[in-house]
Amino acid sequence: MKRILVTGGAGFIGSNLCERLLKEPDNYVIALDNLFTGRRSNLEKCFESDRFEFIEADVCAPVDIPCDRIYNAACPASPPAYQKSPTNTTKTCVLGVINMLELATKYGAVMMQFSTSEVYGDPEVHPQVEAYRGNVSCNGIRSCYDEGKRCAESLCFDYNREFGTKIKVIRIFNTYGPKMDPEDGRVVSNFIMQALRGEPLTVYGDGKQTRSFQYIDDLVEGIIRMMEFSRINFTGPVNLGNPGEFTMLELAEKVCKKVGGAAQFVFKPLPGDDPTRRKADISLAERELGGWKPAICLDEGLDRTIEYFRKLV
Ligand code: UDP
Repeated sequence: MKRILVTGGAGFIGSNLCERLLKEPDNYVIALDNLFTGRRSNLEKCFESDRFEFIEADVCAPVDIPCDRIYNAACPASPPAYQKSPTNTTKTCVLGVINMLELATKYGAVMMQFSTSEVYGDPEVHPQVEAYRGNVSCNGIRSCYDEGKRCAESLCFDYNREFGTKIKVIRIFNTYGPKMDPEDGRVVSNFIMQALRGEPLTVYGDGKQTRSFQYIDDLVEGIIRMMEFSRINFTGPVNLGNPGEFTMLELAEKVCKKVGGAAQFVFKPLPGDDPTRRKADISLAERELGGWKPAICLDEGLDRTIEYFRKLV
């Protein structure tokens, strides 16, 4: 049995990953989560397996769990959630990764760090390639997350150089799909829930800022390929995202059209340090991860996500 620890296992990405890992009969999966933003209900299916265990704990506290693989996904990721307790967000990034790197070093496990496109900040290079060092504020309202994640990457590479710890670093671009928290304040969940409730869609700023949206199943496929099938010394960082680039207004229009009803938007102020544009360059992932690229376009992904959210309204 391969023992796999997933921190943030009850979160949107973590729980989708746990479900996928349990499909392999030789995997034993341990999800660790403090349920700050994660939800036990995301793990309903996982609890049916006798190869699954849930530990309610904070990744900031050291743990001793023998394992072969660590996926370090623990951290609130939506701006309203990570800004609720910003000091806690930085601690989760930094103390969390230290604890997981210590564990990986002790047991010789491979430690995958879930980094983010936020390390590029408000990018001056477009689309974003891994070699780009970013344009990040170190004292703005997004800094707790952006700098926390940047420091976490730095720690991964220093553990690798100093102690030979086996690491893999992925930079995740905006991801959406089933198991997202409908109330977490991210744009895809907000727009879909608002449209389903017949409320106007809240567009921040002029709505011309862009993001590239990746469907969860494509991300999970990339994660597994990176962990299990990439060259052992391929540490990354590697971008995992969908290169399709859309403005928030385009997204709002798509959601309205799909849900039905009259399209109504209400414009709200743009939050501080909100990146103007973002688009994943995934050529490195394609090269290193056996031709990996997203298979699900925004239209299809939105249909599946709307179906999931419909059941919650
Ligand atoms: N956004 C929006 N309306 C919302 C929530 C977000 O227009 O109800 C915008 C937000 O300002 C940002 C983009 O959508 O420009 C993506 O926001 P999200 O919070 O999903 O992710 P992130 O900013 O971390 O990429």
